[in-house]
Amino acid sequence: MHALYRVSSRISFRFFSNMAGQVKEYDYLVLGGGSGGVASARRAAEFGIKVACIESKKLGGTCVNVGCVPKKIMFHAASLAESLHDMKSYGFTIDGTPQFTWNTIKTSRDAYIQRLNGIYENLLKKSGVEYVQGWGTFTDDGCVDVDGQKYRGKHTMIAVGGKPTVPDIPGAEFGITSDGFFELSDLPKKTAVVGAGYIAVELAGIMSELGSDVSLFIRHDKALRNFDEMISDNVTDSMEKSGITIVRQSTSKKLEVATDGSLTYETTAGTFSGFNCVIWAIGREPLTKSIKLENIGVNVDKKGNIVVDKFQNTSAQNVYALGDVCGKALLTPVAVAAGRRLAHRLFDNKPDLKLDYEDIPTVVFSHPPIGTIGLTEAEANAKYGKDKVKTYKASFSSLYFSMTERKQLTLMKLICVLPEEKVVGLHMQGQGCDEILQGFSVAIKMGATKKDFDNTVAIHPTTSEELVTLR
Ligand SMILES: Cc1cc2nc3c(=O)[nH]c(=O)nc-3n(C[C@H](O)[C@H](O)[C@H](O)COP(=O)(O)OP(=O)(O)OC[C@H]3O[C@@H](n4cnc5c(N)ncnc54)[C@H](O)[C@@H]3O)c2cc1C
Repeated sequence: MHALYRVSSRISFRFFSNMAGQVKEYDYLVLGGGSGGVASARRAAEFGIKVACIESKKLGGTCVNVGCVPKKIMFHAASLAESLHDMKSYGFTIDGTPQFTWNTIKTSRDAYIQRLNGIYENLLKKSGVEYVQGWGTFTDDGCVDVDGQKYRGKHTMIAVGGKPTVPDIPGAEFGITSDGFFELSDLPKKTAVVGAGYIAVELAGIMSELGSDVSLFIRHDKALRNFDEMISDNVTDSMEKSGITIVRQSTSKKLEVATDGSLTYETTAGTFSGFNCVIWAIGREPLTKSIKLENIGVNVDKKGNIVVDKFQNTSAQNVYALGDVCGKALLTPVAVAAGRRLAHRLFDNKPDLKLDYEDIPTVVFSHPPIGTIGLTEAEANAKYGKDKVKTYKASFSSLYFSMTERKQLTLMKLICVLPEEKVVGLHMQGQGCDEILQGFSVAIKMGATKKDFDNTVAIHPTTSEELVTLR
């Protein structure tokens, strides 16, 4: 009796575990419902195949929830604060001091993002992509396990993105990251932003324009050190002029909570106290540690980024990766474009289609914004030789600032390669440069020369006209 019971209980256990463990099969299985994952899954579904997309948090990923979208909304708020300085010069009378309530914009921003999450879910549904909510990990039989349910793709794509890096120092937990920035319900009075990359520059600018007393802690002497020298010099200078304290040559040592509840930040450049908020913006790392890539033989580099070839193939057969998780050009349109191209290559009979990672236009939403594409002057000199590189520069105050007490320069640099003066780089910082870049990047991607720029009739009076009248 006893033995019989054991046998039957084993049978029923196996019966139920088979039911629960029945593998769900797809033509295309996408891990990560962010920019790259959603774009690739939806495009693939257009070709009549069976697609599923697995997301553990909120659809839309970093860009929609804790990146581009909420950041740009805060940039708009900060730009309005900037414009307030110029109202009087343009004839407006403002009675009293304009008041800014951080939580008002945060509440409407959060509501907008919640709507976007819903829109993303609907878009997946309309495209016929099955949305699986949960954390996926790879199993050694090539499946993705989500809460005990196995999913298998004939083709599997990994677009799990990354997360902000926190320094390995005592008290690091008292600071927040860009994710925490979007949770702030009030503007901190005094903020330390640690980092010199574009996220650090953007967050420091937003908080400073909105009224926080901001210090930017950088490890070397300039922010955006990988950008063209004209830009890194100017962005550092313009941030200082706008009231941000830049602490150079500072490496993090310790963060402590003082008796009054404020934060004391110890660095190699000294100890700084009285902060209400410290933001770590020192870089991002791929989310590859806990998805058990070793089970399917996907190789990662020293930093944990998934290694892919030009076609987004990983080291495992029929497994692909794209977007931030590959550690190259961490931008939404890059993940989207790579994802869509991969879908066409795999399911639309376009075997040669891949993303060209050259000449990717990039904007930094600093104050004023930066637009950049192609080689820096130093890179062009190294690639072609200094005698083959000709640069054209402009530095001017745009018409807008002719009326204002607040002055701001616009800087532009065109980098050309002789003899035909092919444009290989364009770098600019100034009001409107964020919107100017896209059109010019089409021309540069098409191989435009300085002569093509010169042959284009200017639009007057604009900032962009300077680019077609450079001498
Ligand atoms: C503050 C900030 C500002 C930014 N501003 C801009 C900007 O202005 N312009 C721009 O182009 N880019 C910007 N970016 C970068 C942009 O957000 C990313 O490049 C883009 O989101 C990358 O897309 P992705 O698909 O590779 O990854 P993500 O969008 O990060 O999506 C990955 C998704 O995978 C999910 N996931 C991870 N692991 C698992 C798992 N095991 N199971 C299930 N789901 C999982 C995550 O929850 C996430 O939703 C910004 C980033 C930050 C942080």
